[in-house]
Order: sequence, then C-alpha cells, then structure tokens
Amino acid sequence: MRPEILFPLFAEIDSLPGIGPRLKPLLARLIGGEHVVDLLWHLPSGLIDRRFSPPLTETIDGSIVTLDVWIERHDAPPNRRRPYRVICKTQSGPLVLAFFNARAKYLNEVLPVGEKRIISGKIDHYRGEYQITHPDRIGTEAERDEIQTVEPVYPMSAGVTGKTLTKSTRAALAMVPELPEWHDPALQARHKWPDLKSALHQVHNPENDGDLSPDHPARKRLAYDELLANQLALALIRAKMRKLGGRATNGDGRLRKALEAELPFAMTGAQQRALKDIYEDMGGNGRMLRLLQGDVGSGKTVVALMAMLNAIETGSQAALMAPTEILARQHFETITPLLEKIGVTCAILTGRDKGKSRKAALEGFADGTFQIAVGTHALFQEDVKFRDLAFAVVDEQHRFGVHQRLMLAGKGQAVDVLVMTATPIPRTLTLTAFGDMEVSRLDEKPPGRKPVDTRVLPADKADDVISGIGRAMRTGTKIYWVCPLVEDSEILDLQAAEERYRILVELFGESRVGLVHGKMKAKDKDAVMERFAHGDLSILVATTVIEVGVNVPEATIMVIEHAERFGLAQLHQLRGRIGRGNAASTCLLLYGSPLGEISKARLKIMRETEDGFIIAEEDLRLRGAGEVLGTRQSGLQAYRLASLEMHGDLLAIARDDARLIVELDPDLQKPRGEALRLLLYLFERDEAVRYFRSG
Ligand code: ADP
Ligand code: MG
Repeated sequence: MRPEILFPLFAEIDSLPGIGPRLKPLLARLIGGEHVVDLLWHLPSGLIDRRFSPPLTETIDGSIVTLDVWIERHDAPPNRRRPYRVICKTQSGPLVLAFFNARAKYLNEVLPVGEKRIISGKIDHYRGEYQITHPDRIGTEAERDEIQTVEPVYPMSAGVTGKTLTKSTRAALAMVPELPEWHDPALQARHKWPDLKSALHQVHNPENDGDLSPDHPARKRLAYDELLANQLALALIRAKMRKLGGRATNGDGRLRKALEAELPFAMTGAQQRALKDIYEDMGGNGRMLRLLQGDVGSGKTVVALMAMLNAIETGSQAALMAPTEILARQHFETITPLLEKIGVTCAILTGRDKGKSRKAALEGFADGTFQIAVGTHALFQEDVKFRDLAFAVVDEQHRFGVHQRLMLAGKGQAVDVLVMTATPIPRTLTLTAFGDMEVSRLDEKPPGRKPVDTRVLPADKADDVISGIGRAMRTGTKIYWVCPLVEDSEILDLQAAEERYRILVELFGESRVGLVHGKMKAKDKDAVMERFAHGDLSILVATTVIEVGVNVPEATIMVIEHAERFGLAQLHQLRGRIGRGNAASTCLLLYGSPLGEISKARLKIMRETEDGFIIAEEDLRLRGAGEVLGTRQSGLQAYRLASLEMHGDLLAIARDDARLIVELDPDLQKPRGEALRLLLYLFERDEAVRYFRSG
C-alpha cells in the first residue's frame, strides 16, 4: 500500500484545475503518466524571461519585452490578409500590436482605448515601427507581477499548450508534501543538494540558463533520487533472493558429456567461460541470478541447455521460457532432438496448449516425468506445479518484468535463474538496467560464420533489387523484406508493408510471397512463418515482428526498406536473422532521401561491423542512453530525471549507496529506511517493497 502522505502526488491529473477528459490523455502522453507526480518529473527545457522593460530604441529584434502601454486607437484591417492593429503609446515612443484573424470584440475588451495595459511579447522592428505581433500576455497594472516574470518552457506536443503545462505544474507543485530526507546527510552536504520539495520548486522556476543545466544541484538531486530508487529496488530484490537461499546444484556431468559428444562442434571460448560462471553460481549455496548477454547467433541456446542438464543430472527439473509462442516452439524444436539422443524428457506449454496436451504437460511437470519444461509465460500460471524445479532460463528477458522473473523463481525451491538477452546493452548501461546482476557475455562468434555483406542503397534502386531477388529465388534462396509500418501513416512517402506485398505478389504470385505484421493474430502469423520456414514461401514481407529470433537458415537475403527510420539496435537485430546458414548472406539497406546526418552515420556503422557490442556503443553515442533503454526495442525502463550522459558519475554512487543500505537495513526499518520506502513509492518501484515485505 502506498503511504498516505504520497496520495496527493498520485491523484489523477484531471483532478487539477483546467484539465478535463479531453486534455487528460494528451497531457498523459506528453508527460509519460497520468498522475500529478508525472507533471513534476516533466522538467522545463528552457525559459522565457519577461523581466526586461527597455526603452524601445534599445530593444533587440526578436527579444521578449514587457512594456507599459496606453491604448490610442484600433485599426481594423481592410481584408483578412492584413493584421488588425492596435496603436499604443509607450514612455519611449509609439508601439503597434498586430493580430491576424482577430476578433475585434475581444480585442476591444482586453485593450480598451484610453487605458493602460501591461504587454509582454516578442518585439520586432517593422517598416520603421516597433511592433509586437500577438502579445503573449496582456493584463492590467494589478496583474503586473503575474506577467513580468520568468516562465519555464516545457517540452511540448500537439494539443497541450505551454500555458496549460505551466498552470498545471504550478498546481502540482503546491501539492508536494514535506517528506523526510532519505539521502545520506554527508553525501547531500557534499553535493549541496536541496531537499526534495525545494529541488522541485527550483527546477520548475528557473531564473537563468544555469538553473536549467543538468549540473544544477536541484537537477542533480532529482537525478540521484531516481537513480537511487532504481538501484535500491534492484538491490532489495537481489538481497531477498540471496536470503531466500539457494541450493548447491552440482551435476555429475554425465548428461553434459553425452550432449557434447552429440554436438557437431566444440564450444567457443566465450561459451566455456559463460558456463564456468554459471556452474559456479549453481554450485554455490546462494541463489543465482545471472544475465547471459550475447548477440543473435552467438550460441546462447547451447549454453542454456548445458546449464539445464547440470540441474537434471542432480535429479531436478529445469524450465526454459521464451517471450513468444513462436520462440518457445522454436526452442522446443531445436532442443528436443538433442535431448532425445541423451534420454532427457521435455514438454512444451504455451497459452495455446489446451485440453489433453495441456493436461499431459501439467501432469508430467508435477510428477517429474518431464525433466525440462519449455514455454511462454503460461509457465507462470497458478496451476503449473513442478516436482522439483531447480533451474530456469528466461530468454529475451526484456519482454518480461522483474516481477515475472520473481514469480518463476517462486515455482521451485530455490530456483536459480539465468536470463538471456540478445540485446547487446552497452557496459555502461547494464548496471542501470540490471543493477548488480552478474553478467556473462558471449563476445565471440562460433567459427565458420560467413560475414553478411551489407550494402546501402537509395530507395529508387528497389526495382533492381527486385530483379536480383527474382534470380536468387530460383536457386532456392529465401528472402526477408522488412518495411517500417503496416498501413499508410500520416507520413505520406512511407512504403507500407501491404503495398510492397501487393507489388511482390503481382510479380511472383501469392504462393511465393507471404506477409506478417504486428496487427495479425498470433495464430495467423505463425502459420505464415511456418510456410516461410518449411513451406512454399520464398519471400516474407514483414514489419518488425520478425525481429525476435526466428531461425530460417535458408534465408540469406534481407531487404530493409526505409532503413533510415530504424534504430541501430533494431537494424542489428533484424540483420541477425540472416547469415545463419552455410551460404553467404546479403543485407540491403534501402534509404529514402534526404538522409540526415545521424541516419547516415547509422547506416555506415551497419556496413562496417556486425559486432553487436560495438553497434550498441555507437548507438549509445548517437542517441543517448535514455533512448537506448527507453524505446520499445529494448523495453527497458528509461530514466525521466537522470541522464546517463550527464549524471553517469552518480550511477556508481547510487549502486554503492543501495548496497550499503541493504546491508545495514535490509528491511528498511530504520529511520532512513522508512524514508527510503517513500522514495521507492515515489518512483513507483513498489514492486520491490511489496516483495521484501511479503517474504
Ligand atoms: P543465439 O541463441 O545466441 O542467437 P543459437 O544458440 O541459436 O544462438 O546458435 C546459433 C547457431 O550456432 C545454432 O545453429 C547453433 O547450433 C550454432 N552454434 C552454437 N555454438 C556453436 C559453436 N561453438 N560452434 C559452432 N556452432 C555453434
Ligand atoms: Mg536463441
């Protein structure tokens, strides 16, 4: 339960004055949440200083001024193209206020002839006259203090005005309660950080550019709040898992030896190193939580399999979980023939298994008939029981939340967990995404891989590409054709997948070309994929749904249309679908013109390297950390207040801080711990709190 003192901050934004049902969703999208607290996290990116009132002759064109004016007369325009003009006098000469598409009645009300008003806006010098077009503010002397201020400028989006944001943020600030300090006093003093309430007031009331800098103590404090909340949540979960205790799993090696004898290859050095780490974790008494990072095709599956066998050698069970039905089936198909050879039993359970097959799987897991379970998150469900689950592998973890990871771990007594990800997260970011989770990296490709020949071509070469494809198809080659969007979007020149599909069908016939996209039902999608993998289809037109690991070794050509619209990580994941067989592969990146600098740089990197870690580092350099972690490509939580480029130094401090806190006060019972609970709730890391309380 969220502490009461935080209730006002978690009120819905439409409880604020001026925000109704129409505005709510627009504002929520902009600020990234529906609660008052989300407004507070939406920091200004600039400011407008309305404090200056220079004489007209000293004004600079385009600058913002606030002036006292006396209204002399209104000049209605002869036609709609000309502005409505209000002629005024100031202490330093005449000034014209200009309005296009004006409503005379309204202007006569707010600017009555003969009266004095305070005007603020951007001044220009136009045909020998001083002029303000559409003043930002008009008010009476009594309103001067509200007008002649410094205003924060917020990042904005369609449908939400700056005025709305400023006003609702003011209201949100007024709701911030006094909270006990959760930071270490020495750390806080060293950095001169204000308390939370003052920090929020400061960041939302900038007076100069220095106040907007990420180095400003108020901004740094908020960044640190966020980093600490995240690190603390991870550390608590980690500590909890350790405390729950593990068990020592040390198989005798007989199944692993048998499997190695069956494999047509030897393990790479990287695979051996990863396995050594994993066996050590499993063999220890603590509970294992390790991340196995490796590019597409780096050989994670075999590593997972060996680790599972280690558990099975001791008489326990193991589970392998994938984020989608397709991937689960694929894992199942890959490992069953190998397992059969060495006499290990295995069953699959996904959301689509109903009736008899479901019942058989459930019974087999419960009585131990099946030693390995493969599946989707259907494996989490209440009625799934294991006789003795000791080890779980979670593939492509970024599709699962921390919470799900824990649920799986709850399925057995002291389940060791290995998380596998093909997203090559840069070293600097692993820490933020996974906290102090141990990491093994497969940074060495299995030998004999042919490099993918990557070429970058302008979009108008598409016809040549199609004739090339026609020739390749006749030799049995399979082709991925990737398009950025499903339907025509508002962006007119976007080559939609459906359109491309029609064109290719016209040329090659419906029996040879298939289409998959994100809006299809999983069942239909799988059917098309199946025809591509094992059937008659030679070309698969797809949106990014193929991004996640399908394995079709005969596919050796990939065309990516509008490659400039994809992020580097995504391009890399896509390209990883080819180059899996023995034949040489080609990736054709088609780009639309004009090509921006960043897009150009991205495509160049794609041409130059296939190393996922290098690509990830470059991606980070080009885009910034927030985006690398924040986009749907990785699905990982992005920071809202901290910027890893600007506040990277704070990250290690937060990690150490979090570790120390958990060591000294693992249940957050001491006074600082009590305050830290508020921090966790404030940043919606409730999961961590819930977890350590319940257990
Ligand atoms: P990932 O899951 O990391 O994308 P996979 O485990 O699917 O990669 O491996 C890709 C391919 O490489 C598979 O066909 C696998 O059999 C093969 N492979 C794995 N390890 C090796 C190795 N050490 N030597 C040669 N081939 C390997
Ligand atoms: Mg794999």
